[in-house]
Amino acid sequence: MKVLLVGKGGRENAMAWKLAQSPRLTGLYCAPGSRGMAQYGECRDIDVMDIEGQIDFAKEKAVDLVVIGPENPLEAGIADRFDEEGFKVFGPSASAAKIETDKDFALDLMHRYGIPTGTFATFSDPDEAKTYVNEQGAPIVLKAAGLAAGKGVIVAKTLDEALAAVDEILVDAAFGEAGAKLVVMEYLDGEEASIFGFTDGKDIVYAVSSQDHKRIGEGETGPNTGGMGAYAPAPVITKELQKEIYDRIMKPTVDALASEGTPFKGILYGGIIITAKGPQVIEFNCRLGDPEAQVVLPLMKTDILDIFEAGVNGTIGQIQMELDARAACCVVMASDGYPTKYEQGFPIYGIDDAKALGDVTVFHAGTDERDGQLLTAGGRVLAVTGVDRDIPSAIKRAYKAIDTITFENQYCRRDIGYQALARLQT
Ligand code: AMP
Repeated sequence: MKVLLVGKGGRENAMAWKLAQSPRLTGLYCAPGSRGMAQYGECRDIDVMDIEGQIDFAKEKAVDLVVIGPENPLEAGIADRFDEEGFKVFGPSASAAKIETDKDFALDLMHRYGIPTGTFATFSDPDEAKTYVNEQGAPIVLKAAGLAAGKGVIVAKTLDEALAAVDEILVDAAFGEAGAKLVVMEYLDGEEASIFGFTDGKDIVYAVSSQDHKRIGEGETGPNTGGMGAYAPAPVITKELQKEIYDRIMKPTVDALASEGTPFKGILYGGIIITAKGPQVIEFNCRLGDPEAQVVLPLMKTDILDIFEAGVNGTIGQIQMELDARAACCVVMASDGYPTKYEQGFPIYGIDDAKALGDVTVFHAGTDERDGQLLTAGGRVLAVTGVDRDIPSAIKRAYKAIDTITFENQYCRRDIGYQALARLQT
């Protein structure tokens, strides 16, 4: 089976790596792909938003299946267009992707179908928003309703901060069009985890739970990033909680989207917070997380091509998901200065030594190559995953691998998994 994988980040590198393990894969094409993905398939430099260019590539290669990595082209309707052209595509339609791309839509859907989440209200008028914020008090969460590259959420600890955030989003348009609608949401207190399900719009099968670290600094300090590390499974998600999340959140959301006439075919990502009242949704995403994919996929034993194919054929119900009972930890190696200003173009050494440790995978997020030498080419450069018998060992393995890799100007957090370690100790 020939597959086109759309995307270029660490997440897509992990998807390509996993697809390449399938005995049924006869050709992998990646667009635009990356240095890392080129190890597994042919890459063509076509932007993820160049939907017609992607379709032409798929036609040229006569692919049997198209898999979409990132959310932006899904919002723009890439799955719908591939579908119209007669391709089998694993990824939600633009209407179903609204579960991520329109937080007002998502929260309204959850409330209408009794899916546990916080109370919320949506505004386009700043004065009305401020009246509501004043009534509700702080802490409170303000969100640009649209896609804002992971930056559109402000968790306001004080009323002043909340009121300033209303202006930032609605008056100053800090997040552009994504902030044309402002969602004001109840602050939910608890530990967060990410739950991934593969669905054909009716049935759903699950990967292991995971947790990620979004802040640049150790101890969750400094600005938000695309993600600095992750681990799986999440110790906070007990067997009972997992069942509750599947039965009360994930499956009902798949059913709700189907009832609305917009069945969701693809990867449903539940951002769940474990509150004193039980698990509640903070948000849904319509694709795998990055860097969660880099820990979740290495712990999946089932052939991912079988899952993707079942997803498009409506036979997910027949998939027996087999998971690795071990744990995984991924640490992101970034360019110092990320997520603001950083230098790049430095040679990277030691990847082969890292891999030689065994049960280590080095995914590329931002790399380039010149005269056969791998170079840094982005804020997040590599995502290094270690798999081992338990979380503490997986963390050690990931850092051992990290310590064999060198490049100038490198930065990584040294505390990935600290919450898991603390929880495991108690
Ligand atoms: P989101 O992009 O919606 O996942 O939000 C980014 C981050 O903001 C989440 O990972 C949470 O840490 C935080 N957050 C979002 N919504 C809430 C909420 N309702 N209560 C508390 N924290 C939240």
